[in-house]
This record gives sequence, structure tokens and C-alpha cells, in this order.
Amino acid sequence: MIRILVFGLILLSALALFTHSMTGLIKTLAIGKKDDRFDHIGARLRNVLMVAFGQSKLLREPLAGLMHFFLFWGFVILLTAVLEAMIEGLLPGFTLEVLGAFFPPLAVLQEAVGVLVILSALAALARWYWFSPKRYFGPEVTGHVRLDATLILGLILLIMIAMFGGNAARIAFTGHLQQGRLLSRALSGLFPSASGAHAWFEIFWWIHILVVLAFLNYLPHSKHLHVLTSVPNVFFSSLRPRGELAKLSLEDESVEKFGVDDVRDLTWKQLLDGFACTDCGRCTSVCPAHATGKPLSPRKIIMNIRERAAELTPILLAAAEGGNHAILKHRLLDHFVTEPELWACTTCRACMEECPVTIEHVPAIVDMRRYLVLTESRFPSELTTTFKNLETNYTPWAFSHETRADWAKGLDIKTMAEMQDGVDVLFWVGCAGAYDKRYEKVSRAMVKLLKSAGVEFAFLGTEEKCTGDLARRSGNEYLAQILMTENVETLNQYRFKRIVATCPHCFNTIKNEFPQFGGEYAVVPHTVLLQELIQTGKLRISKHAKARTTYHDSCYLGRYNGVYRAPRDLLARSGANLAEMARSRDRGFCCGAGGARMFMEETVGKRVNIERTVEALALHPETIATACPFCLTMLTDGVKANDAEEKVQVRDVAEVLADAIV
Ligand code: SF4
Ligand code: SF4
Repeated sequence: MIRILVFGLILLSALALFTHSMTGLIKTLAIGKKDDRFDHIGARLRNVLMVAFGQSKLLREPLAGLMHFFLFWGFVILLTAVLEAMIEGLLPGFTLEVLGAFFPPLAVLQEAVGVLVILSALAALARWYWFSPKRYFGPEVTGHVRLDATLILGLILLIMIAMFGGNAARIAFTGHLQQGRLLSRALSGLFPSASGAHAWFEIFWWIHILVVLAFLNYLPHSKHLHVLTSVPNVFFSSLRPRGELAKLSLEDESVEKFGVDDVRDLTWKQLLDGFACTDCGRCTSVCPAHATGKPLSPRKIIMNIRERAAELTPILLAAAEGGNHAILKHRLLDHFVTEPELWACTTCRACMEECPVTIEHVPAIVDMRRYLVLTESRFPSELTTTFKNLETNYTPWAFSHETRADWAKGLDIKTMAEMQDGVDVLFWVGCAGAYDKRYEKVSRAMVKLLKSAGVEFAFLGTEEKCTGDLARRSGNEYLAQILMTENVETLNQYRFKRIVATCPHCFNTIKNEFPQFGGEYAVVPHTVLLQELIQTGKLRISKHAKARTTYHDSCYLGRYNGVYRAPRDLLARSGANLAEMARSRDRGFCCGAGGARMFMEETVGKRVNIERTVEALALHPETIATACPFCLTMLTDGVKANDAEEKVQVRDVAEVLADAIV
């Protein structure tokens, strides 16, 4: 009876403490802004099944992924053992054998998982101390991370030992061989006398219970808080298109500021991201800015959000209750996250692709850029000219808008204004396609291909304007919204079945962001349309240039929109001898131009385009192929910087294909 009372008291106290900690977390999330993430429950549950229970992101790294997979599933299955021990505390002698025929398979599973958890925990410990991957040694990672991991892994090992010890001792003193508990049965031989076994059972049982309750109460204060928050974080992750940034409401004139300068301006989900971060460093390990020595670590930004939210919440709560606490002069921006960090981001999305708990770094970074640009007019001086050009010329460059269609002179192609009955395909040329002398060749190659295939098409000519991609990603939401609205108004005057865009940034904005402004269109990237024209026999390849080629994935075509096969297929059909870089497809390394970085100086660290070009040149290609004007420019510059212009050409896939057709 005393045992039941003592256990009951400990259990209630532990649960009360845990509830208190979790209530604190919920109060912290409540300081954030509203965000409806309770829609499409089916799709959210599917994400949980894939990412949380299937561990799909972690398994991208097979060894660490498998270790974590077993730890996760061990945790879930072994909860049944914890439940058994808890009920035993209130009903002495209770075992899960009450489950009847379900017990033996469950017991086998518990023991098998128990062994795997022990092995995984030992391997994880060894990895932390002897084979720690580079990502753990970023400048902002301190010894506390390793200490925390050691403590958690040590507690897991203790729980496992107590579980096996308790089960074995129970078999020894009851003489009842529990079906399925084969290992415990074998271990029961270690207890020579029944009375000794009974005493050991009590010791193991208390260790099991106390360590589990201590573990439960340590979690909310540890880096392993993600054990509790990662599944909800995956459940609430964005179901919007990957390439869509949220529309900022600019109409409300009573609003004092736009964008985010402190955690109260973030949504509750963005705050939850901070508390779901496992501190694993996967995001930072793939960040091109970090890899080239810029002061940006996506991991640090997320941990800073957590740190600042934890700092601010008690102050806000005390102030709300009339406490005399001055609001700290700190804010997230400047005191935790600095301008150079924010402007170093290329919005390449590598961090988000890698994050095992689906944290959304890019929207948080752009939200802070929005504050800097719209509220404080603080941005790199180079962007002043870019914004001015976008306002007056509708292109980031200093070209007159009247000359936007000049590239097409002599090509005999119609504008949409001349095709009032409509066309099958509207060719979206983009700023680079219209003004960049090198990239004009890609526009011309595209025209050649469309004509050869007999596609009925037209372009907007001088009615086309920059889509607003770079304005939006550099934080100038005001300018971006003007450009998007005006483009949608223009497009809505015309009839066409679909749009084809050579530039992945244009494609992404038209597809994923124009709908926010009333423009819903069928839009395809040029590589996808060209692949279709080949597959349907409208384009025929007659020459096979067997150039050794490596293809560089554009972030906005690949990671944002999942287009990986079409460009490779076109290159292969053109006769290219394809060699893949180690960092390719969804692990592709950015060229350094996205997120308006193309229009900013890169003065700190190594240049991102050089890092990428060196990786490509290591394969000794004759051609580096791309499907993006920004990538083409960055890689061409990289090839020049490496004095490799004589040996290697940087070409768009459309140019390679145009050379290969009849
Ligand atoms: S989007 Fe790319 S550049 Fe920006 S933080 Fe993530 S990985 Fe780094
Ligand atoms: S944000 Fe994601 S990938 Fe980065 S450290 Fe946190 S959990 Fe790991």
C-alpha cells in the first residue's frame, strides 16, 4: 500500500511539473500571430506518416537515418513497456499479458526494439564522441549540445537496462515464463534465488519509473524537446506550394510596421519551428552561404527565434499581469539575427529540404528582409538601383522598357496583341531573355524550337514586365505586388492555353504567386514543354553531339518545383554524355544568384558561383548545362574566373537541343 501511495504521489507531481512546462510552451507560442494550420487534416496526417513516422527526411542519410529510425520507433513501441510499469505501480502484479493473444508478438517486438535501441544509443554516443559529422562543429555549436545528447542517450540506456532487468527478475521470482520475452527469460538465470530476484525487480522497477519521469520532465528543457514537438510541427507544416511566399497585407494604413523585427511578429507556427528544432545542423551543413564563409547559419536563425521567444515571453506575461518589468530593449532583429546574415541568403531552400522536422527557414528570413526594406529602408546599397530600375523600367537593369521586345527583331514572331483570337502557348520571355545579350540566344533557341515543332505561340512584347520574384525575395513586397498585379492584369486580357517560361524564377512566380493576385494559369518550364514536344514527335533530334556534360540544377526549377528529369532527358536525347555532380537534384548546390543575390555584391568569403563551378569542372565537362538565366550567368562567370573558357561551354538546355534538331 505504501508503495502505491509513494508511486501515486511521485507520478502526480511529475505530471504536474510536466504540464506546467508544456503550458509555458503554449503561452510562448501564443505571443505569435495567428496562422490557420488546421485545414486539410488528411494531408497533414499523411505528412506525419511519411516524415515523422516514416522518418523520410532523416533516411536521406542512411546510417544516421537508420539509427534515428530505430530510436524513434523504439520510443513508440517501448511506451507500451512504460505503460505496463506505470499500471503495475498502481495495480501490483499487473502485466501486459492481459492483452491475451496480442501479448506474445508485442513482447517479441518490445525485446527486439529494446536491443536495437541499446545498439543505436551506443552507436549514437560513439558518433558524438568519435565520428561526429562536420556539421556539429559550426562556430555556434558549443559543448552543451554534446552534453545534452550524452545525458539523453544515457537516460535511454538506463531505461532499457531497467526494462530488461525488471522483466528478467519478474520471471525469476514468479517462475512464470512470459511468452515472447525470450531475452528476459534467458537473463532470468542471472538471479539464483526468488527472494533476491524480487528485490532486484523492485530496484529495476523504481529505476525504470523514476528515469522515465525524470526524462519526461527534462525533455521540455532540453534540445530533445523535439521528441515532443516534432510530430506536431510536421503536422502543422505548410501545405502551400513550396515556391509561394505569403502575401503581406499592405492595405491597412494603421499598421506601424511591415514584416518581422521581433518574435511577436512571427506566427505561432514560426515560433513552434524554434521549439521543434533538433539542433542537428543539417540545414547549416547544406547552406551555400555558410559553406562559402558568409555569416549565415539557418540553424542559428531558428535557434535564435527560440532563444528570443523564451526570453520575451515571461516578460510579456509579467507585464500583462501588472508586473513592473520593463520590456527588454532587445529584439530579434539586430540583437539575435543581424543584417549580414539575412542578406547572405540565396533563398535556395536547401535548408528546408534537409530539415527532418520541416522547419520553414526561408519565409522567416524573407519576413525579416521585409521589415528591413519596408519599415526601415535598410538594404544593401546596390539594391537601390535595382529597385529604381524595377519601378521605372520594369526590369532590374537600366534598359528602357520600350526596347524590351528588341531581341525578337527579325524573328517574325507575333505579340499577344496581334493574336486577339488567342494562341496555344504564350512564351514568357523574362527580363534576362529580353535584355541579357548572352541569354537572348536562349530566347532565340526557344523560338527556333517552338517554330520547328509547329507550336502556335506569341509573346507579350513590351507588355511583359518583371514578375516581381527578386523584389519579393529581397523584401520589397510593395514593389513585388505592383509588378505581379500589373502582369496579371495584362495576362487576363488575352486568351492562351498555357504559358511557357524559360526562367525558373518567372515560372515559379507565375505558377505559385500570381494566383494570389487573381492570375491562375497553366504554366510549364521550357524543359518540360520541350520534352513533351519530343515525346509527341513534334520535335525530332537528328544530330547527337556526344559532349561530356554535367547539368546544374536550378533551385527554383528543382527544389521549389520538382523538375529534375525533363532537362536531363533532353540532354541525354541530344546525345550528351551526362556526368552528375555529387550535389545534384534535391541536393543541388545553389549558383549564388537567387533571393536577389544576383544584384548584390559578394564581398565576404568565397564566391558561391566559384564553389559550384569548381565542383562542375572537377568532372572535366565540355558543357555545363543549365535551365536558368541566373545560373547561366553565374556559372559562365565561374568558368571565366577559372580560366576554363577554352575547354568548357556553359549552355542552356534549349540551346543544346536547338543544335540537335533538324
Ligand atoms: S535558403 Fe539556402 S542560402 Fe538561405 S539559409 Fe537556407 S540553405 Fe542557406
Ligand atoms: S532547423 Fe531543422 S535541419 Fe536545422 S538544426 Fe534545426 S532541425 Fe536540424
